[in-house]
Amino acid sequence: MILGIICAMQEELDEITKELALTPVNRIDLCSNSYSVYTSGSHTIVSGVCGIGKVNAAVTTQLMIDKFTPDKIINVGVAGSLSQNLVFGDVVIAEDLVQHDFDITPFGVRLGQIARMDTFSFPTDSSVNKLILDNLALPENKIVLGRIVSGDQFIDDKSKAEFLAKEFDAVACEMEGAAIAHVCYLNKLPVCVIRSLSDMAGQDGEAIHSFNDLKFMAAARAAKVVVNLLEHI
Ligand code: SAH
Repeated sequence: MILGIICAMQEELDEITKELALTPVNRIDLCSNSYSVYTSGSHTIVSGVCGIGKVNAAVTTQLMIDKFTPDKIINVGVAGSLSQNLVFGDVVIAEDLVQHDFDITPFGVRLGQIARMDTFSFPTDSSVNKLILDNLALPENKIVLGRIVSGDQFIDDKSKAEFLAKEFDAVACEMEGAAIAHVCYLNKLPVCVIRSLSDMAGQDGEAIHSFNDLKFMAAARAAKVVVNLLEHI
């Protein structure tokens, strides 16, 4: 199987390649980004660091699909918690994703609904999600299935975090996952989004401090989930 792994930040991908002891067998530069190809057991892995935000994420996803024809795409990284019950290092496997900043509400359409699309949320691969949840228990952290919302905003505000949780029934927020899932939806390609929580999105004081301090720990937890998934997929 060819698996595409997309991370927003190099530090997120580094945790995965470190855990898997992967050395690239090939590297290709496309559209200001580099893509690495590895062999892991019977799988070929292609990785890309997309950068921050939905446009960067969409470009990398489509290029990866066009150039490397992955069977599945997995987005891995960190996120902010929208729940009081999920804290630093806990892992959210996205059941589906919504772009919380897509707003055509003046047309009487619900916040997050992409204009003229036949879906409100972008679903992930339920069989891969099940594989992860059935085979992995993290010793120190919860691992849950839930909705993730993405937008071009770093959420560092208690009332905004509470609004997103309530409006979308979401458990975590980040800036790329829904764009990646959107591109995969258009390409009819299975996608999985694995995020470990680096901060509380402003629910408990400034998220930015926690993000800076805990992003490596959270990225390492998310990487462990990927390693486990590769053993079972
Ligand atoms: N200048 C910073 C920007 C990081 S943006 C940097 O380059 O390090 C935050 C990243 O982590 C995004 O990729 C996003 O997907 C994720 N993230 C973590 N916590 C978040 C939060 N509270 N709100 C939105 N995105 C968050």
